[in-house]
Amino acid sequence: MITRRRFVKILCALPFITSLPRIGSANNIVDFAQLKAGYAKRLKKILAAGGLPYIDIESSCNSRKLDMASVAESMDRLNIGLMALSADIGKGQFRKGVRFDNLSKTLLAGYPDRFIPVGNGGQPPALTEDTEPFLDAQEAAALKKQILLFGEFEFRHYPSPRQAKRGETDRDVHVPINGPIGHRVFGMSEKAGMPFQIHYEIENELLAPLEKMLEQYPKANVIWCHLAQIRYIERGASYTPEYVDALVRRFPNLYFDTAFGNARSVYPPSNQRHARVWTDDGNLKAQWRDLIIAHPRRFLSALDLGGDRLNKIDKYDKNHRNFLNHLPVETRHQVAYRSAWSLLFGEEFD
Ligand SMILES: [Zn+2]
Repeated sequence: MITRRRFVKILCALPFITSLPRIGSANNIVDFAQLKAGYAKRLKKILAAGGLPYIDIESSCNSRKLDMASVAESMDRLNIGLMALSADIGKGQFRKGVRFDNLSKTLLAGYPDRFIPVGNGGQPPALTEDTEPFLDAQEAAALKKQILLFGEFEFRHYPSPRQAKRGETDRDVHVPINGPIGHRVFGMSEKAGMPFQIHYEIENELLAPLEKMLEQYPKANVIWCHLAQIRYIERGASYTPEYVDALVRRFPNLYFDTAFGNARSVYPPSNQRHARVWTDDGNLKAQWRDLIIAHPRRFLSALDLGGDRLNKIDKYDKNHRNFLNHLPVETRHQVAYRSAWSLLFGEEFD
C-alpha cells in the first residue's frame, strides 16, 4: 500500500527521475536517482545488521594500479558504506594528455552500490601546468552529470608524512586560493551546484584569503579536508575550535572532513603530533567534540586513503571508527553518513 508520505515522495522525485537518462547511455551520464537507491539499500543493509556504515568522502588512488575488487571486498568486510574514490592524474598520464580520468565510470560499472562518482584530484602537474584544460574537463564532467562531487584541490599542501619520509618534496604546493585558479574552482562549484574539497594546510596568514573567497562565493560548497590537522602549531595557532565555530556560523556552505591521524601520529618534518583534536592520552578534546556536536551536519567521515596506502584500509578504518566512537550516538550517525548524504543529494537520509 502506498502511504500518503510515500506518494508525496514519489511525486517529488518524478521530475528528477524522468529528466535523467540511464547508466551506460552513449554519453556516459550517470542516473543519480538509480545510484541513490542502490546506495540507500547498501547503507540500510549494514544498519539493519547492527553495523555503522560511513561514507568516505575523500580517498584517492592511481587508477592504473587500483585493485578495485580488493577495495570493494574490504568495504564489505569493514562495513564501509560508500566511498568517493577519486583518481589522481599522475605525471605519466599527464604527459599522455589525460585531463579527466573517468575512473568513476569503471567503479560504477563494477560496484554501483558503493562508489561515489567524483572528479580528479586537483594537483600538480594537471592543476598548475595545464590549468584551463584540466578544469574545463572537470567542469564538463560535472555539467554532463558524470560526477556528484569534485575532487580534492590542493591549494596549500605540504609533503605527506610518507612522502616526507621518502624525501619527496614535489607536493610542497602553494596555489593562492584567491588567485585565478581559486576563483575558477569556487566559480565552478557555484555554476555546477557541486561540492569540492580543498587541501589547505593551516597557517595563520592563509585564513583571511580563504574567508574572502567564502564571502565572495556564498553558493560554493566547500569541504575543507582534515579538520584540525596542523602540521606546525607555531604557524597555525589562531585556528582553534572557537575559530572553526565562527566560520561554520558565518558560512552555511562550509564543511569539514574528519580525515586525520590518531593521537600518536607525528608529522616527521615538524616532529609534532599534527591531529590536534586528540589529548595526549587519546581522548577527543572536549572543545572539538562540543564543536562537532553543535554542528554535526558540517562534519563528514573520511579516510583519506591514497595511492600509496590503499593496502592500509584496515588501519585507517580502525582509526576513523575510533574517532566516531568518541561521539554521542546521534552525532556519530550524522557524521558517518547523514551529513554526506544531505550534502550530495540535498535531502535527508531516511
Ligand atoms: Zn588532503
